[in-house]
Amino acid sequence: MKIEESKQEELLFEDKKLGENGKVKSTSQAPLVTFYETVSLRIKTELMSVRECERLKRITARDTRIIRDYLRIINHNEEKILKKDGKVNISLLDKLTLTTSKKNENEIRSSVPHDLKKRYPRCSHDEFQECSSKAISTYESWKAKQDVSKKELSRPEFKKKTPRPMFKGTGSRGTIKVHSEPENTEAILWLDIRDSLDTRRSDERTDSKKSGTKNHNRLWLPLAFSPYHEKKLKPENIKKVELIHKSKEQQWWAHFTLMYSVPSYHSTNPPAVLGVDLGIKKTAVAVLLTPTGKVIMDELRFIVNKERQSKIWQLEKQIGDTQRKLNKSLNNGQHTEQLNATLFLLRKRLRSVTEQELGHAVNQLVDFILQLKKSYNLFVAVGYPKNIRKSQPLGSGNKSHRRRLHKWCYRLFTTKLKYKLKHHGFESHRVVAVNESWTSQTCSRCNSTNTTRTGQGQFNCHDCNYELDADLNGAKNIGKRLIKYALKTTFNFIFDTLTEECHTLLHYNCFEPLGQWLE
Ligand SMILES: [Zn+2]
Repeated sequence: MKIEESKQEELLFEDKKLGENGKVKSTSQAPLVTFYETVSLRIKTELMSVRECERLKRITARDTRIIRDYLRIINHNEEKILKKDGKVNISLLDKLTLTTSKKNENEIRSSVPHDLKKRYPRCSHDEFQECSSKAISTYESWKAKQDVSKKELSRPEFKKKTPRPMFKGTGSRGTIKVHSEPENTEAILWLDIRDSLDTRRSDERTDSKKSGTKNHNRLWLPLAFSPYHEKKLKPENIKKVELIHKSKEQQWWAHFTLMYSVPSYHSTNPPAVLGVDLGIKKTAVAVLLTPTGKVIMDELRFIVNKERQSKIWQLEKQIGDTQRKLNKSLNNGQHTEQLNATLFLLRKRLRSVTEQELGHAVNQLVDFILQLKKSYNLFVAVGYPKNIRKSQPLGSGNKSHRRRLHKWCYRLFTTKLKYKLKHHGFESHRVVAVNESWTSQTCSRCNSTNTTRTGQGQFNCHDCNYELDADLNGAKNIGKRLIKYALKTTFNFIFDTLTEECHTLLHYNCFEPLGQWLE
């Protein structure tokens, strides 16, 4: 499965590792699905020394020889080492090729028919395993094709240079590591590989303490970098890497295979998306979008505490007034200590009241979500304030402060929400942040932007004459956006399962256009 890079602006995926410290236990465990993704990066050979480049070539050449040997041995002993299911018996292959001195499986093998360790004395056990896995997978895919094909297919052989796939081991013994060096201007990302080409047994050296221990040299490869790749190449996700030489361009590339385990979203319940808008007149509006196409009043929530909300407006107005006074005094060169102190106090009070109100909204919403979870395969889309809202009430101080406050509200809200939901066994992956820009200006029925919003929080569409609560309209659009982009985009692996689920929403003919689906 290949996933393409696409713009990350419309949907922001937020997954704070809440409760991972063991304090919060999830009560239900969703089954995991594994995904693979490949990412290719050019190796900046221009930053490497001649000797390092030479070593890269030698590793590849040696790997190719070992893989060829393995393939030849498999071909020769086909009848013996092939299992009934067409797979290669790996332990039998080892018995043919590798001697062992350690007493594992009650057997010391001092001689084998094809002694690869004799032929490649420096090659480590892990490297033999990696080479054999390449040969085995090549052989097995040929065998599978041959079995269904009527004519004789030519046997696989490695004419080109083929490096072994390097798997990530564990701990310090790992074959591959990725280092990030933000200070380094030439190459920020480095691939650090271990190979046995220049390995010395320490008995060859005079200053060693123990004889017989191996000293591996590591080879550092600078990678062509982008922030996108750095984000992707998290050490825990990297499964293997293959170094490929493109002879035409004379370039080396590192092909990473990344592995993710994500919760499966499949459920016997019908899918549904809950759109949540953090509103102005209301603290939050939540609306359930279901494939039956009905917005049922029972599945719609306006969350507001009028008393606290009016307190918030009052404080915002006071802050605005004080800010203006402060600016005036500053321009006239007057003392501003008193005003500064007042402003500080007002902002502090605004924060604490807002926090109370958000806490209240979160509690209400959690109850609502848990209730809906019983009957739906539920996803929650929360509007994320990317831009400053145009319809913000006036008088809340300067623009940057207002923006900060709004973002702060959002952070506090989603953090609390995810934390509480996770505590009740609702996976935080199901809560998705959606960019809310234009959601308040767009008609949720016909997608027109030829709309107005009245002072009383009423939304009017001039194209389809749709009239509804402005915050409800926003919440619908946020929910729609999750469905729309989950269908469209593959920017994040997580959306593949989400997309599948949303595809089942598509099967209902009321989906197109989205507006009708909602009504
Ligand atoms: Zn409309």
